Amino acid sequence: MAGDSGKRYVIIGNGIAGTTCAQTLRKNDVSCAIWLITNEPYPLYNRVSLKRLLDGVLPEQKVMMRDFAWHEQQRITLLTETRVIHVDTTQRVVYLDRGDPLPYDALLVASGGRAQALNVPGGYEAKHIHSFVSLDDTKAIIEHALESKSAVTTGGSYMAYDLTEGLSKRGIHVTWLIRGPHWLRRILDRAGGQLVDEIVTRHGIETVYGEEIQAIIPANGVPARAIGTSGKEYQADMIGTGVGLLLNHEFLNDTPIERHTGIITDEYLQTRAPEVYAAGDVAEFYDPLTGQYHTLGTWDNALGQGKLVAINMAGGHERYLDVPVRSSPIFDTNIVTVGMTEIDNCELTTLSRITPGEKSGKDYRTFFFKGERLVGSVFIGSPKGRRKIEDLIRAGQEFASPSDREQLFDVR
Ligand SMILES: Cc1cc2nc3c(=O)[nH]c(=O)nc-3n(C[C@H](O)[C@H](O)[C@H](O)COP(=O)(O)OP(=O)(O)OC[C@H]3O[C@@H](n4cnc5c(N)ncnc54)[C@H](O)[C@@H]3O)c2cc1C
Repeated sequence: MAGDSGKRYVIIGNGIAGTTCAQTLRKNDVSCAIWLITNEPYPLYNRVSLKRLLDGVLPEQKVMMRDFAWHEQQRITLLTETRVIHVDTTQRVVYLDRGDPLPYDALLVASGGRAQALNVPGGYEAKHIHSFVSLDDTKAIIEHALESKSAVTTGGSYMAYDLTEGLSKRGIHVTWLIRGPHWLRRILDRAGGQLVDEIVTRHGIETVYGEEIQAIIPANGVPARAIGTSGKEYQADMIGTGVGLLLNHEFLNDTPIERHTGIITDEYLQTRAPEVYAAGDVAEFYDPLTGQYHTLGTWDNALGQGKLVAINMAGGHERYLDVPVRSSPIFDTNIVTVGMTEIDNCELTTLSRITPGEKSGKDYRTFFFKGERLVGSVFIGSPKGRRKIEDLIRAGQEFASPSDREQLFDVR
């Protein structure tokens, strides 16, 4: 379906969603013009692989997925270290912090998120307080880890977990403070939380629940101690924060585009403004499978949306229909979430079980039901049967009786 539209496409964000969109646009239309804008200095790199870079098992060059030459070959104009400051959706123009404004025929916002800052006394003055979102964050963490013996990490997010494990693998004594009763409290029930606690404790990490950082006591410009909300003090040469992501869409202020946590789109990933789309982490898209709006921070989702949105920007009309899957390591085992997994959503009921397993010693599974329909699942340990469960969720399969539901634990 090669075209010759002469259309001008502008894409904000060169992560996996933005770069995949650019690549798909070019594949389908040899003569369109494509601008890809990022405030970072790099072409596309693999954000998921940052974890293995931090763990010390992957070199930096293996994290990179594209180089500048690839963009030239594809005739994609990549503007690095360039920030979008405003979009005029009436005139259809994107304004940058440097260079000329860019007019567009269709615009994709794929600007992802940034880490929430740790706003506590002592946190502003001290260096060595790290979040873990970008390649530059990772390089800074590695540099400071070389000079550190102890760290405090804080937060119940995936980001907090990745930081905690990465620092621990670098030989640092880590104390992990979590405000809630356990890690991922929006996804895991108490039993799942306890299993993760067993795994991380077995690997030498000290966990403290119901605790946050209240203040940081620096010495010579770097942290020395962190004070918890309980009043307890923790030794910390460096601090890792994973208290959540703020999605990047402030440059859409003064536009008609609706935003909640993310940018609201329909199932075609189109916003309220004509010819403006959103994809990846920043999109809060309508999901016809669940009848709800979601934001999803997963690689596969960003990639799938990047591909689909390119088709719609070029005049197509395809719905984004997918069962979201996220797979992440927990030391020598794994956590996989499939579909809708909101433990505190009162519309959902759950069924969970821990059985003897291989690597983690135990396997954990939860199934989430909306009415009688299976809508989600979480696996810790062996993910065997995950694809079959995914198919059942996609098919909207109903499980009315307790015995039918029990049989889900046997799916392999
Ligand atoms: C450490 C880490 C581990 C992860 N592990 C997993 C995992 O195991 N499994 C999984 O599924 N997912 C994981 N993720 C999440 C996954 O990486 C993201 O969901 C995915 O990369 C999002 O891609 P994106 O293209 O939507 O956004 P991003 O990759 O965030 O790209 C957005 C880009 O837009 C730029 N930008 C933002 N605002 C502006 C502006 N105003 N002007 C110009 N540029 C701007 C940003 O700087 C960034 O470069 C992990 C993420 C991290 C950070």
